[in-house]
This record gives sequence, C-alpha cells and structure tokens, in this order.
Amino acid sequence: MNVLLGTIDPIKRLSGRTRERWNRVISQFCMPTFKGARSFIGRMGKPFAKPGRQKALLRALLESSPDAMWIKDHDGTYIACNSRAARNLGLQVDDVIGKRDADLFDCETARRHLTVDQTILAGEVSVTSEGKYVDARTGDVYVLESIKTAVYHANGDLLGVLGIARDITDRKRAEERLSQAAKVVESTSEGVMITDTSGRIISVNQALCTITGYSEQEVLGQTPGLLDVADRDFGLMQAIWSSVRHTHTWQGEIWNKRKNGERYPVRWAINSVRDRNGNTTHYAGVATDLSRIKRYEDQLDYKAHYDEITGLPNRTLAMEQIDHRIRIGLKGDEKLAVLLIDLDFFKRVNESLGHLAGNKLLQHVAERISCASPDANTVARLGSDEFAIILAGRSGLAEVEDTAKRIIAAMSSPFDVNGNDVYIGCTIGISVYPTGGCDSITMLTNADTALSHAKRQARNSFCFYNPTLTYVARQFLDLDASLRRALELNEFELYYQPQICLATGAIRAVEALLRWNRPGVGMVSPAAFIAHAEQTGLIVPIGQWVVMQACKQLSAWQSLGLSGFRISVNLSPSHLTSPDLIAQIRASLASTGAQPEMLELEITETTLMEHHSSTRDVLQDIKKLGVTLAIDDFGTGYSSLAYLQQFPVDLIKIDRRFINDAPANARAEGMLASIIAMARHLHMDPLVEGVETEAQCRLLHVLGCDYAQGNYFSAPTSAGDVTSFLQNSKKNMP
Ligand code: C2E
Ligand code: MG
Ligand code: MG
Repeated sequence: MNVLLGTIDPIKRLSGRTRERWNRVISQFCMPTFKGARSFIGRMGKPFAKPGRQKALLRALLESSPDAMWIKDHDGTYIACNSRAARNLGLQVDDVIGKRDADLFDCETARRHLTVDQTILAGEVSVTSEGKYVDARTGDVYVLESIKTAVYHANGDLLGVLGIARDITDRKRAEERLSQAAKVVESTSEGVMITDTSGRIISVNQALCTITGYSEQEVLGQTPGLLDVADRDFGLMQAIWSSVRHTHTWQGEIWNKRKNGERYPVRWAINSVRDRNGNTTHYAGVATDLSRIKRYEDQLDYKAHYDEITGLPNRTLAMEQIDHRIRIGLKGDEKLAVLLIDLDFFKRVNESLGHLAGNKLLQHVAERISCASPDANTVARLGSDEFAIILAGRSGLAEVEDTAKRIIAAMSSPFDVNGNDVYIGCTIGISVYPTGGCDSITMLTNADTALSHAKRQARNSFCFYNPTLTYVARQFLDLDASLRRALELNEFELYYQPQICLATGAIRAVEALLRWNRPGVGMVSPAAFIAHAEQTGLIVPIGQWVVMQACKQLSAWQSLGLSGFRISVNLSPSHLTSPDLIAQIRASLASTGAQPEMLELEITETTLMEHHSSTRDVLQDIKKLGVTLAIDDFGTGYSSLAYLQQFPVDLIKIDRRFINDAPANARAEGMLASIIAMARHLHMDPLVEGVETEAQCRLLHVLGCDYAQGNYFSAPTSAGDVTSFLQNSKKNMP
C-alpha cells in the first residue's frame, strides 16, 4: 500500500469537531501498525518523535490523499474519514463519523462492505475490491477500487479496518473503450496487422488469418514479406515504406499471395503509431481483400460490354472498337465498314413462340452471322433484333458486298427453334469510313439510314450509305410529321369505288379508298404514304379513322334509305394485329349505328400469309361481329388452296395484273379461269379488280366471274358523287 505524503494544510481547514475526532483517532492509533504506514514511518526514520507532530502528520497524510480514506472500528462504525471519502457520499466528514455502512449505503452495498470487513477482521491481510456507486449530487455512476486492511493499536489490539478507495472511473472507461476497440478489430472483415518498428508482426486479427490463410502462430514474428508475390516490384515496396516513414501513412492496392499460393488484390492502409513524443512505436496495417470486388467488377465489365444472350460484344463495345479502329488510323487502301443487320419478323417469333424461343433464335442467328463473315473484326449484337459487323482491312467494297450477300443468304433458310421451322430474313445497311462517318455514332446512324432505305426497297436486301440517303431520310421524317398533322387537321377523305355484279349490274359494295387532301399539293394517292405510315406505325390511327369514317358514311346512307350493299375497308397488317382492333370496330359500329353486315374488311393475301397463326382468330372474331371479309390483291402472295381454306373469307379479289394481261395472254386467261374456279370451290365469291375495258368485262362474263371493280365502271370518287350514283342505281332498280 502506498501512503502519500501531503501537506498538513487541509487538516487546518477542517471544522473544530472533525479536527477533534481526527485527533482522537490518531491518539488512539498512537502507532499505526498497518504495513504501509510502518514502512512509511520506517522511511521517515524517526517515527513520530513528538506526539503532536505525529498526529499532525497523520492528519495531513489522510487529508491530503486524493483517494478516499476511512477507518471503521471492529463494530463497523466509522471513526475517521477524510474529506474525499465524505464527498463521495455527498456528505461532510462530521456526518460520516459515528455512522455505520447501513446508515450510509443501500442494503446491498452495506452488506458487501460488511462481508469484506469481516474477512479482514478474521485475519486476511488485505482485500481489494471494486464497486460502482452513484454520486449523490450529480447522479453520475463512478467506480471505486478499494483496498482494505486491518489497523491495530500500538499495543497490538485490533482497532478496526482501514479503507482506501480510488476513483477508477476514467481508467475503467478507457479499459472498456480498449476492449470495445479490440472487439471491433476482432469482428471486422478487414485484416489488421500490427508490426514493431523493425517490421516484425506482433499482432493480427482473425480476419487477416482468414484472408491470408495463415494461422496467428504462423505470422507472429514474421515480416509482411510473408504475403509478397514472387514477382513483387521492389521499387513499389520501397515507395510504400518511404511514404509511411515520411508521411506516416500509405494507402493503395497491391497483389498479395495467400498461404495456398493464390494471388489476390488487396487494398492496404498502413499508418505509423506514434507515442506522445512523436516517435514511431508500431506500424498498423488494415487490409481489404479485393478479390471478390474485382470479380464483381470483372462481371460488371463483361455485362457492360457483352450481350448476355449471344455472348457477342454489345453496342458499347462495338462502338469502342469502331472508334479504336478510326483512332489508330487506316493505312493505304485499308477500308473500314460497318454493316448494320436488322432481322425481319423477329418480333413475331417472340410473340408466337415466347421469349425463350426468341433468345434461342438470336443465338442461332449470331452463329450464322459469325460463320458467314469469317473476315469480320467484330460481330456484335446491338439490341433486340439488330446485329452489326465491323469489317476492317484491305478488303474492298466488293468484299463488303459479298459479306452482306452471304449474310442475307445465311438468314434465308429456316431456323430450327424448339422443333419449329422458323423463317426470318434480314436487311442490311452499310456505312464505309470516311463517307459514312468518322466516328462510331455517325457510322452507325448512317448505316441505320441505309438500312431504312434498303427496307423501303425490298426485304432481304442491303444498301450502302451515301449522303443523298440522309436527304431521303429527312424527307421521310418530314412526311411523318405532315401525316400526323393531317390526322389532327382532318385532311384525310374517303373516296369510294363501286364493285359491280356482272349478271345484274347492281352495286355489291363500294371500296373505301383513302385520299389525303394535302394543302398546297392537292389530292395525294395512298400509294404515296400508306407504306410510310405502315413503317412508322401511324397506319393504326389512320386505319381507325378510316373505319370510323366508313361507319359514319354507312349510317348516313342508311338514313337516306340506301342499303343492300357494303362499304369495303382496307385493313393494314399493323392494324389487323393491333390488340384493340375488335373493340374499336365494335365501338365504331355502335356509335354510328351502322349495320355490321354492311361493313366488309379487306386483308391482302400477303398479310394473311405473314400473320398466319394470330390472324385466324382475329378473322373469326371479325366474322362474329357480322362483318364480312375479303382477300385483297389475290394472286400476288402465292398462297395455296389448302391454306386459304382455313380462313372465314367471303370474297376473293383477284389482282388486276391477271385481267390486264388476260384478253391477249392465254396463260393469264387460264390462271384467271382457275382462280375463279378455285374461289367457287371454296365457296367464296370471285371479284376481279382493275377492269378497264369492255373486252375485259366480256371475258369475265364468259369465265363466269360474278363481280368486277375498275375504272370501266367508275373510278374512285367522292362520297357525294357516290351518293348520287347509289340513288340513281336505286331508282333504276326494277
Ligand atoms: P387496293 O385495295 O387494291 O385498291 C384498289 C386500287 O386500285 C385503288 O388505288 C384504285 O384506285 C385502283 N384501281 C381501281 N380500278 C382501277 C383501274 O381500272 N385501273 C387502275 N390502274 N387502277 C384501278 P388507290 O386508291 O390508289 O389505292 C391503292 C392502294 O392503297 C389500295 O389498293 C390499298 O391497298 C391502299 N389503300 C387505299 N386506301 C386505303 C386505306 O384506307 N387503308 C389501307 N390500309 N390501305 C388503303
Ligand atoms: Mg382494296
Ligand atoms: Mg386490290
């Protein structure tokens, strides 16, 4: 036990009663016999030579101590304490003296004190204990470390128990913080390594062992060089340690080696640990294993540059490669061409066979394109059904053209998708550096312009970009905007052309034919804009307008008492496959009051062939509405008899090319005769379109064709003219 030597001044400040009590106790002690005091006195040399001086010294000794001190007699009554002890209880010294623990503490604490005191009185030399207390004034909890020992009279009789308590709250807190820090270090997923200044490892946490594969025993005493890869860059290591020595810190990524020899990327944060004087005492390193992050980054990089379905480079990588080729420069007669390939009918496969089948088809397509273009620097998938080939090298334009032809040929044979023979095709737009652009964006944009142009020309074709195509494309955009405006401003009008019953001369129907009354231009024929509207999708709202307008006209004629004929409306492929077609027709009929049986819809033979599976159900639904159906432009789509039988069609409109050639051409006449016979066989009415002459009319009569339509009877004309025509023919009816 240490007894601290202090000044006697504090005892002078005590109240008279307290001073008296101290004096009493000290005189009772006469010569305290506890160990520390003995040695203290021993050190003093001459022990308490004068009694008054002894008392004063002892008082000073007790009072000047920063620790709380007290003496209890063997009954447990406080016979002395210093101000610090009293202050701990929120009391004055006088308030403590004469009290027992039961008077000063709660039951539990008092019992604890008693137990320790009894141990001491029973002969134990000293007992050290810790206890938590609440500061009576502030309510703060503090921790005291107490040392208790027996105190004897000079004659050797037991006086009681001397206690000294030191406030160790701060130390405890520091210890707790350290232990928390240790727990954090132990529980972190980052490896922690501490070395001494010579670089020997003196401490590691579990995470470091997990990362490196070494046990704690294996690394302690070693240097961090244990983790070095064989080809460690010596210069780098020097730079790291130089930074730590001069700036006390270094952070960065390096490669380390695990115990099993595996290399892995790791981020180290190394700091020097310094004492108060700034001298380095240790080095602490925190290691983050980046191998998982790197793997993830690699995956992300793959995803960012490759198409998941086909494994081909994606648009980003393709563009990077085009730009790279342009950047490194083309030498001499080297060429750089970008072929943009767009698949036909891919959407239909996706819709009819499902996305998984669509994905499989894309994989087959990727294989075929790759096989068909062995010279390609890159084959990429840019998006849904869009592929691209980058050709760079000495091959001339003829070779580029050959590649395009090979790809078109490769796409023309059927693909086996889940046991189905799937026919698709492709169209290709080509841009060649530098006329087709000097960067990836421009080259792809121009290839796309060429692609659109090729599509407008013919399917399964290709087109090289040239600057006039941009002009054409701009016109295309202008037309698009004008058509949208036409719809909004009601610039469309329906003309009507009658279909005549050859036997009676009666009007079977009038075909509604769209006209665009374009301001400043005049009447524009549908041939000038229908294909365009079909490409842009604008044909659907236009078609909806036509159906509604035809129904309104029917209703108007019905109210004039004109009936017994139909209005025949042309339905585009996109409109036919639009999801709300049936609802829209039903709504147009209902809102106008037009009779469904007076409405007929025309679908071209080509449309019927291209939209086979989905169309049959739609046609059945149309029939259920009471609307009749006609096949338009028959003879241009090469459909078979068996094929036609599947559809609920009422009328076959035989394309005008047959009648045009017929009177002079025996073969055309034969064809016409067999189509008419076939229609009869299928219980469909035959009608021949484009009848212009009396001779043609007579021939049809001979061939037994029921109906005809053409300028010979009437060119398409306005609703007003047709109304008079219908009224007249009604008058002329017998
Ligand atoms: P289509 O359905 O085969 O219509 C018949 C076309 O033949 C009409 O051309 C008509 O004017 C023309 N025609 C009729 N008789 C004769 C003739 O004796 N000699 C000649 N040389 N031609 C004759 P139009 O009105 O220019 O329509 C062209 C095509 O545009 C139509 O062919 C049809 O496919 C399409 N079309 C017209 N209106 C619409 C419409 O409202 N919607 C859709 N989707 N297509 C329409
Ligand atoms: Mg038609
Ligand atoms: Mg036609």
